Amino acid sequence: MEIKPLKRYSVQEIDQSLFEVSKKIYPRALTGWFSSWRWIMVWFTQILFYGTAWLNWNDRQAVLFDLAARKFYIFGMVFWPQDFIYLAVLLVIAALSLFLFTAVAGRLFCGYACPQTVYSEIFMWIERKIEGDRAKRMRLDNAPLSLRKFTLKTTKHLVWIAVALWTGFTFVGYFTPIRTLAAEVVNFDLGPWQIFWIFFYGFATYGNAGWMREQVCKYMCPYARFQSAMFDKDTLTVTYDEKRGEPRGSRSVKADLSTLNLGSCINCTLCVQVCPTGIDIRNGLQYECIGCAACIDVCDQVMDKMHYPRGLIRYTTEHALEENLSKRGIWARVLRPRTLIYTAILGLIVLVTALSLALRLPLKVDVIRDRGMPRVMEDGSVHNVYRLQVMNTEETPHRYKIKVGGIHDAEIVSDDSFAVPAASTTAVPVRVRVELEHAEPGSNKIYFTVHDRDDESVSVTEKAVFLIPR
Ligand code: SF4
Ligand code: SF4
Repeated sequence: MEIKPLKRYSVQEIDQSLFEVSKKIYPRALTGWFSSWRWIMVWFTQILFYGTAWLNWNDRQAVLFDLAARKFYIFGMVFWPQDFIYLAVLLVIAALSLFLFTAVAGRLFCGYACPQTVYSEIFMWIERKIEGDRAKRMRLDNAPLSLRKFTLKTTKHLVWIAVALWTGFTFVGYFTPIRTLAAEVVNFDLGPWQIFWIFFYGFATYGNAGWMREQVCKYMCPYARFQSAMFDKDTLTVTYDEKRGEPRGSRSVKADLSTLNLGSCINCTLCVQVCPTGIDIRNGLQYECIGCAACIDVCDQVMDKMHYPRGLIRYTTEHALEENLSKRGIWARVLRPRTLIYTAILGLIVLVTALSLALRLPLKVDVIRDRGMPRVMEDGSVHNVYRLQVMNTEETPHRYKIKVGGIHDAEIVSDDSFAVPAASTTAVPVRVRVELEHAEPGSNKIYFTVHDRDDESVSVTEKAVFLIPR
């Protein structure tokens, strides 16, 4: 057998095979139904993000993640490290919602609510306002450096940087009171961590939305890679109807389609020009497609001009294309086992979490027994000392009383009433006395009940051990 010598590759060839040379994308501006929805989502998410940080509740910031004090304030609720379970549940709800929405309508999150899409949309809008639409931007980029080009580019970057820094400032404003932060910015009195995070988050926004854009979706976001695992043949995706569109070709508006040997696609390439990731949806579903539906809007406009029915590019499913399903048939299959299971699990988790939040007691108690040995007193009793960590999770001070039980005649011989200020924790030393004959040598179960003196229904019982020397 003849063994062929190995081919030798030049450095340039290896470079080319490892890295795809990316071309700058100049998405064309457009209007349309889906575009309006994208802008509604931009407004909604940004009003929520920039606005919520400035809302007040009970004389403090409504949403504040106070990491230093280890307390998260969300409107009327205060979450402590002990409530970490709610964060875990929130993540589970977010993941399940993503599975559900993806199973129903593909990359809805990517196309309408992902911060990368939202900020790219805002940055592209700024770019269009300053440099003009696609053709003007392309001409400007190809033109030699001039005063006009320099001014336009500098203005664009300054506005981008201002938006990015405002975003960074707002982000930090969720972790440190935003009004204090604003005053510190005005007085040039920011701490090193605040400066770091404002610039770090601002830089990430500027870099991702201004420079990297579709590269983030293509190469950095893992979601694009595993989304296919959540798709099935009844998932709605942005699809080009190849049967109807091909063979593609240009023609006059007045030409009668039935007499031409052509499909409905007039090969205007507008669907490619509006695509923020620069792909051609006519090549089939691609992982780069973020499901923004810009190509649907523009193609519908082309179809209107040509007096053809809309929907050459549309949200549809693989089954619908194979079996020629009507819209009703498509929606009937939305309710399939996979989506019903996701919905049921999601509904159950949301319900249980809501109930648990509604029934959450504004009092938490931890009992720690003092490490010292029990003391046998002269009167024949034994004393054990405990430390009760009592947490008042409400934003008003409360008065509490401690009771002890579990061993006959056990009594508290230290102060059993105390107050805990609003949203804080107090350590209460408690000494318990038990007659020797009422307990066994070794460890005995004992119960501490802490109850609110103004509301008996707020009461927590914790168990501990009472030691009797052998
Ligand atoms: S916008 Fe519609 S008609 Fe134009 S190239 Fe794309 S698919 Fe064809
Ligand atoms: S192919 Fe269409 S839906 Fe997909 S990213 Fe491009 S414009 Fe958006």
